[in-house]
Amino acid sequence: MRRLILLCVLLALALPVQAEGLTFPEVAYAPERDELVFRLAGPDGAATLIIETPWGRQTQTEIGAQRDGATWMARFDVSEVPVMAELRYAWSGIPRQGAPWSTAWVSYDRPDPASDFREWQHVAGELCDVYGAQLSAATLTQIAAAGDAAVLNAQKILGDTARYVEARPRIVVVVTEWDYAMLATEGGYGVAKPSWGVTLQWLGHAEVDEFVTRTVPHEIMHLYDPTAERHDVPAWFTEGLAVLAEGKQARTESRQLLRQAAQDGTLISACWMSEYPRTDAETALWYAQAFDMVEALGLEQMRALQAGMADDGTQFLEVWRRVTGESAESWSTIYAQSFLGSSWRIWVRNILIGIFVVCVALLIYREWLIRRER
Ligand SMILES: [Zn+2]
Repeated sequence: MRRLILLCVLLALALPVQAEGLTFPEVAYAPERDELVFRLAGPDGAATLIIETPWGRQTQTEIGAQRDGATWMARFDVSEVPVMAELRYAWSGIPRQGAPWSTAWVSYDRPDPASDFREWQHVAGELCDVYGAQLSAATLTQIAAAGDAAVLNAQKILGDTARYVEARPRIVVVVTEWDYAMLATEGGYGVAKPSWGVTLQWLGHAEVDEFVTRTVPHEIMHLYDPTAERHDVPAWFTEGLAVLAEGKQARTESRQLLRQAAQDGTLISACWMSEYPRTDAETALWYAQAFDMVEALGLEQMRALQAGMADDGTQFLEVWRRVTGESAESWSTIYAQSFLGSSWRIWVRNILIGIFVVCVALLIYREWLIRRER
């Protein structure tokens, strides 16, 4: 009897251990090495883990797995991957005996195992996913609706040249600057990682209404712009396109800023527009000018440029020459002239208004003289 009890106790102790051994997590985040550890029970031989992000091209990574007891184990370094990216993975293997095996693709959501200090709320739009920390459901829903509209708008502007993707874009919104700084690698109010399909945005800098008409469509455009991450593409082209996608109010403000700068003679030289602004003071004007340059180029030429670069990775300047028939330098001149031209037109308009006012004044004076003579 005692033996039986002992056996029962031993069994009771042994069972959970065995169960634990079987129910290991398939994916675990190892913070000390900033990597994801994947595990799978499978036959001896050789095994490979295939990781894919459904955004952009050439996003499959193959990792050779190591044997760890009865399981396969593969490590994936995520230090370069935004914590809020979506990954998909599958296993394939060749056993010592028998036919090769493979698993189905598994989606692995990651906003985000890497951070333990925030709780993400998720709201699914029709075309995008929004993840927010410390935000109300109503705000997240508003952002999701703006995200949906922004996706459609970006695809409309880019036409056939829009980046082709299988997955939905992700908008990750944080409220505090501190949270933003913890997750973003760059400054500003938002950052887009087009190859991962993720944009991280800091809501705290603006009112929600401004945020959804400005930051959201701007960053979403970067995700669908097929050349947003290319180094041969001038900054004005990428950013001008993003401002073009912003709401009407933002574009109106850009035009006002340009008009003022044209009058004050403080416009940034077109040849400086290939690089991002150097000082905070000129940032707003720089973006306004970038927008104006893309608008001057027109949708048709913009798409021809995108298509030309997409074909075989041809460099921007080469496609530029083919599409516009201009060198980059002559474009700067043409652009500067079109600017002068528009300010010249403003002067003509002002002079015409002046002449009109003088004529009316003379007429009134004449009328007054005639009446006085009576
Ligand atoms: Zn931008």
